[in-house]
Amino acid sequence: MYSLAPTITALDCGWLRTQRRTLTQGGSTDQLSFPIPSWLVQHPQGNVVFDVGLHPDLADGAESLGPMAKIFAPQLEHGGTVAHRLAEHDVDPLSNLTVVLSHCHFDHVGGLCELPNARVIIQADEWVAATSDPDISYDKSLFELGHDVLAIAGAHDLFGDGTVACIPTPGHTCGHQSLRVVTANGPVILAADACYFGHTLDDGILPQFGYDFDQQRASLDMLRREHAGGTAIVPGHDAEIFRRLLAAPL
Ligand SMILES: [Zn+2]
Repeated sequence: MYSLAPTITALDCGWLRTQRRTLTQGGSTDQLSFPIPSWLVQHPQGNVVFDVGLHPDLADGAESLGPMAKIFAPQLEHGGTVAHRLAEHDVDPLSNLTVVLSHCHFDHVGGLCELPNARVIIQADEWVAATSDPDISYDKSLFELGHDVLAIAGAHDLFGDGTVACIPTPGHTCGHQSLRVVTANGPVILAADACYFGHTLDDGILPQFGYDFDQQRASLDMLRREHAGGTAIVPGHDAEIFRRLLAAPL
């Protein structure tokens, strides 16, 4: 039966450089590079891509980031975006993929332009906020591209067999979600920005910015409970853990 369990493959879709304090409350002004992952989840009934990394324009510099260019320096090679990474794993980026978005910040939606035939699954709260909110943290040109969008409210089982499911983890943004995948080696939660680093589970230090810090703490508590129960938690932007997963897929 385990041969039919979904697999998770880490895709390197660029890195960003910023001051440590951008990502952690009380952090220093030291520079830190952090990975921008996308995750290919392969289920017998179809391919799912969880988050889609940086926009290809960022290989030419930070200009298209607008005000965010003051904070983040992109490190992206030409050919280092999600479409190329999928092709490297024999997945056609123009096929009818399912893209699950954790949220609509630029480092999670930039590659959508390369996946024109994908169906997008996102929490309705996030989609409404991102498409109507003038907040500079959302750049609509990255995600309002005419995709077929399924806006969900709460948990959502993608294939009806419990192996791949969206789970709400609000707080970083109003409609942030994570993806729970039951692999042959056990359950895994791709946490995205509900948990930036591996040590976040232990120290509980949150990013400087966030939609709702109480919600963020509650989402982190849920991840801790899952972790205590034997679920592997994959943080969103942890360089060391990401490098390990690139070398040895889950
Ligand atoms: Zn992020």
